[in-house]
Amino acid sequence: MAVKKTVGMYPAFDRSGTSTRASHYCAGCGHGIIHKLITEAVTDLGIADRVVMANPIGCAVFGYYYWDVGNIGAAHGRAAAVCTAVCRTCPEAIALAYQGDGDLGAIGFNCTFQAANRGERMATFFVNNGTYGMTGGQMAPTSLEGQKTATTPLGRDVLNDGYPLHVCEVINQLTAPVYIERVSVADTRRIMDARRAIRKALELQRDGKGYAFVEILSPCPTNLGMDAVQAAQFTNDKMEREFPLGVLRDQSATATARPAAPAKPGPAAFFTSNPDGATDAAPDPSFAEQRLKFAGFGGQGILSLGLYVAEAGRFAGRYTTWFPSYGPEQRGGAASCSVVVAGNPVGSPAVDHADVVICMNLPAYERFAKDVRPGGWLIVDASVPIAEKPVGVQFVSFPAIQFATERGMPRSANAVMLAVLAASGATGLDRRVMEQALAASFQKKPSLIPKNLAIFAAAYQQAGG
Ligand code: SF4
Repeated sequence: MAVKKTVGMYPAFDRSGTSTRASHYCAGCGHGIIHKLITEAVTDLGIADRVVMANPIGCAVFGYYYWDVGNIGAAHGRAAAVCTAVCRTCPEAIALAYQGDGDLGAIGFNCTFQAANRGERMATFFVNNGTYGMTGGQMAPTSLEGQKTATTPLGRDVLNDGYPLHVCEVINQLTAPVYIERVSVADTRRIMDARRAIRKALELQRDGKGYAFVEILSPCPTNLGMDAVQAAQFTNDKMEREFPLGVLRDQSATATARPAAPAKPGPAAFFTSNPDGATDAAPDPSFAEQRLKFAGFGGQGILSLGLYVAEAGRFAGRYTTWFPSYGPEQRGGAASCSVVVAGNPVGSPAVDHADVVICMNLPAYERFAKDVRPGGWLIVDASVPIAEKPVGVQFVSFPAIQFATERGMPRSANAVMLAVLAASGATGLDRRVMEQALAASFQKKPSLIPKNLAIFAAAYQQAGG
C-alpha cells in the first residue's frame, strides 16, 4: 500500500547536522497525528493561504518545519497575543495557536485566558500530555495527582503542587468563546473524533465566527517512561479520568461572523498632534542624532529638564523621545532620564553611550560621566566636587543650583542648566526652541513663564551663549 504524504505539509523535514530522522518527534508521540489532522483540514477547507500558525516554546515549537502555511515563532506562552495581533491587523488571516500544556497552562495561561475572554477570532489547539516534554518531563499544570515527573519524583502532591488544571473548564466560564471541546489522539476511534473537532474549529475560523478552543490529550511516551502502547493506554485510562472528553460548548450553528473590533486611533493620533503649533517631525538625515542623559536627585527637576529638551526638539520639527527612570523614593532618590533628538524616527529611547551627559550631583556624576562618548559633552553643576577635569570630552562646570538660588528661584536650577546646554551648542537645538519649550511647560502656571525665561536669558549670557 502506498502511503501518501499529507498535502499541505512540507515534503521533507530538513534538519541541520547529520540526523536522518523523518520527524523530530519521538515514536508514539501524539504531535505528529495532530499535525496531520490540522494539515488535512486546512487543505480540505482550502484555507492554507490564509492560515498563520503561532508556534511557541515546547515540543510544539517545530510545527513550522511541517506546516506549509504562514508561521510565526512566538515567545513562551504568548501564542494568543501573536494571534490577536494577526487577526486584528489582517482581517483575511486565520490565526491558529498551537501550544502544549506547560506553555499554555502555566507560562501563558493568562494570555490565553484573556484572548478567550475577548473572543478573539482565532482557534487554539491545546496539546495536553501532562508534562513539560521538550525540557525533560517536569511537572506541568496538567500533570495528574501522584504522577511522577522530573520535578515531582515522589509523585504530584496536591497539597504541595496544587491540582491538575482543567483548562477547558476554566475557559468555559467565559462568555465569548464559541466552541470548546476536549478530544484525544490515543487511539483510532479517538483520532476520528479529534479530526472532527479540529475541522469544526477551523470551519469556525474560515467563517470568522469567533474563538474556538480544542484541547487534545496526547501521549508522551518519552517522559512517561513508557513505550507507545503503554503511553496511549495511560492517556486513555488515567488522563481521561481526570480530563473527560466531550463538547463543553458548541455555538457553531447559531454563531454569526464576528465583526472586527472597531478601529482605535493608532499611536500617530497621540504623538503627531501638535496643538501648540509645532510642526510634525519630518525626516532630515542631515540632522545628526543627539543622545542625552540627565541625572541627579529626585526633586531637582531632572525629568523636567529632559522633557524641556525633548519638547525643544519637537518644536524644532525633530523626532524626539523622553525616557524617564525613577528611583524607588518619591523625593531625594536618584532620578535620571534619557532623551533622543533625531532627524529620523528614533529606534530606541534608551541611551547608553551619550553625546551629552548632564549631572546635577555627585552620585549622578559618578554613575553617568563615563557614558559620554569621546568628544561628547559632560556638563555638571559646579557643586559637584571633581578632583580632575575629565579628558577626551568637552567639559562644562556651571553653578546652576547656586545661580538659581541666589535669584530666589532654587527650583529653576533646571531652567538654568537648560540655558547652559543651549549656550554650549551641544544639541543642534537653538535658543529659540529651548525657550519655547520652557514656556510651554508652564502653560498651567503662566505667571512663572516670564520669571523662568528671565533666568534662562541671564544664565545663557553668563554661560557664554
Ligand atoms: S518529548 Fe513527549 S511531547 Fe515531546 S516529542 Fe517526545 S513524546 Fe512528543
